Amino acid sequence: MSGALRLQGQGNGQGHAIGPAHVPSEPWNPVDGGVSPSLEFDLLRSAIGEAASSLEDLMVRTDRSSANILEFQVEMLRDPVIGDMAAEYIAEGQNAALAWVTALEEYIAGFEQSEDGDIRARAVDVIDIRDRVLRILEGRPPADFPKGSVFVGKDMAPSLFLAHDWTGGGGIALAAGSTASHVALLARAKGVPMVVGVGGLAIESEVPVLVDGGTGLVVVHPSGADIAVAAMGEKTAPQTPARFAPPSPASLPACRLEVLVNISDIAEIHSLDSSVCNGIGLLRTEFLLSSAADLANEEKQFHLYVEMLDWAAGKPVTIRLFDLGGDKPLGGFAVEERNPFLGMRGIRLLLAMPAMLRIQARALLRAAALGPMKVLLPMVTFPKEVEDTRRIFEEEAAGLVQRNIDIGVPDIGMMVEVPAAAMMLDTFEAADFFSLGTNDLAQFLTASARDSVSVANLYDQATPVLLRLIAQTVRIAHDMDKPIGICGDLAGNPALLPSLIASGILQISVAPSQLPAVKAVLAQARMEG
Ligand code: PEP
Ligand code: MG
Repeated sequence: MSGALRLQGQGNGQGHAIGPAHVPSEPWNPVDGGVSPSLEFDLLRSAIGEAASSLEDLMVRTDRSSANILEFQVEMLRDPVIGDMAAEYIAEGQNAALAWVTALEEYIAGFEQSEDGDIRARAVDVIDIRDRVLRILEGRPPADFPKGSVFVGKDMAPSLFLAHDWTGGGGIALAAGSTASHVALLARAKGVPMVVGVGGLAIESEVPVLVDGGTGLVVVHPSGADIAVAAMGEKTAPQTPARFAPPSPASLPACRLEVLVNISDIAEIHSLDSSVCNGIGLLRTEFLLSSAADLANEEKQFHLYVEMLDWAAGKPVTIRLFDLGGDKPLGGFAVEERNPFLGMRGIRLLLAMPAMLRIQARALLRAAALGPMKVLLPMVTFPKEVEDTRRIFEEEAAGLVQRNIDIGVPDIGMMVEVPAAAMMLDTFEAADFFSLGTNDLAQFLTASARDSVSVANLYDQATPVLLRLIAQTVRIAHDMDKPIGICGDLAGNPALLPSLIASGILQISVAPSQLPAVKAVLAQARMEG
């Protein structure tokens, strides 16, 4: 094993990968710079100009009646009034995409509600220019790193993980990070070998690296023997680590437990049949979109939600509003903060940026007409946040009805992931249902950031306090006659099922990769919901 450099970190699960290192030239910074009004204004002006020029090109190649429509669209794009309105929204702090959509929304509603049928018919042309400019604003996706390589860095953005093509294998070695972070959760769900907390990682790109997600070992310049040891370890490693050991069927009380899935990546539904679960218990919408323009794109979001409803084939689909902030910056909204997990995240950010919330609300209300859907609010702390969100949904629903657009009325529930909300659950009459987010609850209860390897041992000791709080919270929810389930990672640990069931939990939602182990335990005890 000569010449090899061995570094010990913490494994994020099972499996090993060998590949050339990919070291990004710029380290990931969770704060993506915020919105610069002059930059956003330039972006928008050039996107509008590009859209108008492409329509003008089309005009010269088309017949007279189509040219009329295109001429109308070009006139609208060149109309300085819309650009000026958008500029005002940008000056108020919105990014180019949100400002553009907000400015055009009033026009679209005006056309749709006109008494004159010819004018009403023009609404679709305005929607088309709205989406043309949005597509240009999407820009090109950031360059992916080579397939099959081992990503080596301080930490990794969840969006970079999701944009990478993992079909050629590869793995991740992080100097910092933690197994409770969002990127670690995504890597486990996809079976990508990952090691966190390796410390100093002075590795150059292209150097061969071995990552062992089981033992937490990273080997630079691995020898044949190193590779053989990792492969052997994988074969002989127990399929289920001791702390996840399944309970004996006798310890499970007789009751029915519904098991739903957490979806973080569209690929997950492509490899899963909806007949094996009771629906989607958590759709992390912030992971399905990859740019600021997507966050403003109602049509794109609508189609994604409909795809989920189609997949679920009549089973409930719980869609969480964008949970941006913390370790999930997207679209220039992350504010520079000392403690981003305790800052502008989830529903706080959405209520501070209502234009983004209103677009998502419209996409959801329209999709809700097509199947059983529930809406879940992230990071709720106080009842007013649920009440304010509900009011925005009601206003958007009324607007859509006025425009003769079909809508459904989804239940609106909340994540219980902030201790204040858990302790005061009885004050949340405004919520229709509750879902316990134990990943965040654990970090707040133990005061240990979920993305920090230095306090991971404290975070990992949260189970007893979580179980106590879950039991209290479930009792309150039952007294309020409101459904409560768990969608945090803890629900996917078969060893904890007896405690959860004993506390009155009737519904859990787990990552697709956790589903087989959970189902096996329940099948043994004949308790599937
Ligand atoms: C949680 O916090 O438990 C949860 C399910 O949400 P996320 O992991 O996306 O923060
Ligand atoms: Mg959470």
